[in-house]
Parts: sequence; structure tokens; C-alpha cells
Amino acid sequence: MKKNLHPEIKSIEITCTTCGNNFELKTTVEEIKVDVCSNCHPFYTGKQTSGSKTGRVDKFNKRMEKIK
Ligand SMILES: [Zn+2]
Repeated sequence: MKKNLHPEIKSIEITCTTCGNNFELKTTVEEIKVDVCSNCHPFYTGKQTSGSKTGRVDKFNKRMEKIK
């Protein structure tokens, strides 16, 4: 029988370089660093740096304040 036929699966910590969020993943590699994660990705946060979307939301919020 050959030894080490299967790579060892261990739980590692992934660090997001953008927001510093850490999360665990079971994998065979030592370390993973990601640029975006589910914590800071624009798709999940809704914060878009382009500005057009947030500008529209700001206008909407101001309009709602006037109605009150
Ligand atoms: Zn992140």
C-alpha cells in the first residue's frame, strides 16, 4: 500500500486583505489570502465605489425626509 495517497485535509484560516476578515476552510493547502470576501465584496455590502448608485439612494433618502 502506498502512503500519502491522499493529500492531508486540514482546517486553515483564510485572510481577506481588504477587510481583514478571517474565516476557516477545510483544504489541502497551507494558506490562502483573498482580495475580497463575502464580508467586503461590493455585491454583498451594497457599497459601490462608483458613486452613481449611492447618489441615487441619497437623493431618495432626502426625498423621504421631506415627506416626513
Ligand atoms: Zn473581506
